[in-house]
Amino acid sequence: MTLIAWLDDLSNEDVNIAGGKGASLGEMWNAGLPVPPAFVVTAEAYRYFINETKLNNKIMEVLEGLDVNNNDELTKKSAEVRKLIESAEMPTDLKIAIVESYSKLGQMTGTDETFVAVRSSATAEDLPDASFAGQQDTYLNMKGADDVVDAVQRCFASLFTPRAVFYREQKGFDHFEVALAAVVQKMVNADKAGVMFTVNPINHNYDEIVIEGAWGLGEGVVSGTVSPDTYIVSKDKKILDVYIATKETMFEKDENGITREIPTPDELKDKRVLSDEELLKLVDKGLVIEKHYNRPMDIEWALENEGVYMLQARPITTLDEKPAKTGGGAKPPSSEDAGGNIILKGIGASPGTASGTVKILNKIEEIDKIKEGDILVTKMTTPDMVPAMKKASAIVTNDGGLTCHAAIISRELGTPCVVGTKKATDVLKEGTIITIDGEKGVVYEGELAKKEEAVQARVVYQGAPLITATEIKVNVSMPEVAERAAATNADGVGLLRAEHMILGTGVHPLKVLKDKGEEGLINVFADGIRVVADAFYPRTITYRTLDAPTDEFRGLEGGEDEPEEHNPMLGWRGIRRGLDQPEILRCELLAVKKLLNEGYKNIMVMIPLVSSVDEIKKVRKLADTVGLRLGKDVEFGVMVETPAAALIIEDIVETDIDFVSLGTNDLTQYTIAIDRNNEFVAKYYRENHPAVLKLIEHVIKTCKKKGVKTSICGQAGSRPAIVEKLVEWGITSISSNIDAIDTIRQTVARTEQRIILDIIRDSKNRSGL
Ligand code: PEP
Ligand code: MG
Repeated sequence: MTLIAWLDDLSNEDVNIAGGKGASLGEMWNAGLPVPPAFVVTAEAYRYFINETKLNNKIMEVLEGLDVNNNDELTKKSAEVRKLIESAEMPTDLKIAIVESYSKLGQMTGTDETFVAVRSSATAEDLPDASFAGQQDTYLNMKGADDVVDAVQRCFASLFTPRAVFYREQKGFDHFEVALAAVVQKMVNADKAGVMFTVNPINHNYDEIVIEGAWGLGEGVVSGTVSPDTYIVSKDKKILDVYIATKETMFEKDENGITREIPTPDELKDKRVLSDEELLKLVDKGLVIEKHYNRPMDIEWALENEGVYMLQARPITTLDEKPAKTGGGAKPPSSEDAGGNIILKGIGASPGTASGTVKILNKIEEIDKIKEGDILVTKMTTPDMVPAMKKASAIVTNDGGLTCHAAIISRELGTPCVVGTKKATDVLKEGTIITIDGEKGVVYEGELAKKEEAVQARVVYQGAPLITATEIKVNVSMPEVAERAAATNADGVGLLRAEHMILGTGVHPLKVLKDKGEEGLINVFADGIRVVADAFYPRTITYRTLDAPTDEFRGLEGGEDEPEEHNPMLGWRGIRRGLDQPEILRCELLAVKKLLNEGYKNIMVMIPLVSSVDEIKKVRKLADTVGLRLGKDVEFGVMVETPAAALIIEDIVETDIDFVSLGTNDLTQYTIAIDRNNEFVAKYYRENHPAVLKLIEHVIKTCKKKGVKTSICGQAGSRPAIVEKLVEWGITSISSNIDAIDTIRQTVARTEQRIILDIIRDSKNRSGL
């Protein structure tokens, strides 16, 4: 029986022994590539574990008669199975084999106890139609034999995630047909890391290698949370293009071996990561790997103390799905005709890459000139431009920061967007072709990618369906995108903005009231909310009453009377305006009541930009007059978006609300005095400013003490480094943008696991174990 296999003994042929990942590492190791040393706890060891512990029957018993379409049952039963596996006593000989191998690995790397990554490697991982890739767990930075044994056992258990169980049941696969090996590999404590594509995945140029690199560990680049430098190198080793990104954050291992995202030190932020020499070293390895596998590869790499490591290599399958633009299997265009000059920079506001024809929109009357696939260039988008935004393949603006109108709507539409360029309407020429990188915030001359191709060429790895104690919700601004938002599997809608339900009609609410009466306006709100409530049912949606800024509402038919304000962001908006115009707010509350009567039980209500207790009481009173009991008929919450609200949170929770939601877009602008729509100060806009974080911490901890639920729906809830803190402070739910859901779910899961692990380690230490 082979319980342990070393990389020396493995090749691609050994998926049955070492799983897909283990086999691929063995193949690279034996091809002479610099792979960090590793051993594999084999699939046979897994089977031995299951048999010796007599878990087969117990697992079958739990899964007997399971209805996989019943989500609650599936989650419960698969958790039960995992618990059985995790709590079983590992057979002594297997345990000894792992402990001895771990010790040997330590000796090979010159330490007694080395940090290792323990990665699941399923035997069916790479088989067509049985793709389990990435569905099982990985544990980074494990140290000490006990923790390693424990991590192996948890990897074994991860073969029974709800999704894996669902998949096997659906396909009629035997649960014990698939086995799980675990790779135990020395961790590389990278100074620099990233990914390398041996074909340019944007323009499918087979003569180019694209390398992305950032400071510290590679997690940030792989998960997309860090904007890396991008280098394009020809296969005959000429450096063709170097794009240096501003690397706001980086990942590092702390003294306890825990991976953390930290702010990048100022001197490194804009510094080039890879020297020419390092680039060429990586290219050498990339070429060897591509030659070895005889196909384009996607490689994870790391540099530690000048040493180059190859961490993983996978074929780039997405290239095959899309023929080269020139068609007929011909080679894609070369870099010369593909363009690549950066002509404008701004803030990357919605990820993705797209090419198209520049159409400059100076006034709304020109809206019809935007045709499907064009690139919309304008000073700042306005709500009446939404129809054109839907047609555009990308959007570029002069003004704005990460939470401006263009940014929020583009993220929701999934359209690449660069904001705050200051001069797009001057620099970009009508009718010319450009390419947008909405992640890096760059505009290139010429055509590098069509949106569709860019999306397809992107290498996407599906994550496991993580279950987190903290709920992960999604923000929705336009009812039209409800289905797309619901497809993220978010636990509900943490913020449904009302503004677009009105702006989408093009008519001012007061005019609707005048022309069509209360019922007309109630229907506008009810129709919008219903679309979202339907898409998510029975998951809850949080309807936020109208937060109408005068500048946006002035453009509506009948909006001429909206006052001209110096700074609308500090002006007549939020609930103060709602209470000044109770005739509108009344219709919103009546719309919610109407939907309740229609049987929608999944609606919650919250109010924006609260700054006093009095406002909350007045809203309750108004709701009572229309027969809607806030807190009884529907859950009722307030948004904490002003320092005032955060500082009087004790008084606010006394008003008997059910929840608060942190609106950090506004909270940030009001705390550090930075207009969120003003591109001249956008670089100072920081949701992680200590003052903002202090207010947030105070709100979460106070609410927790008082038993009031907390959520966040500002942009900060889509930022992993901040989300970690929110989870630590005890937030109940996080509501992110559609594009950030997967990353945030992973961040939350990792943070929760780390908290649990810390507690276990703490109690072990205290009891002297
Ligand atoms: C916020 O301020 O964080 C928020 C979510 O509201 P909005 O962006 O609509 O002002
Ligand atoms: Mg707000």
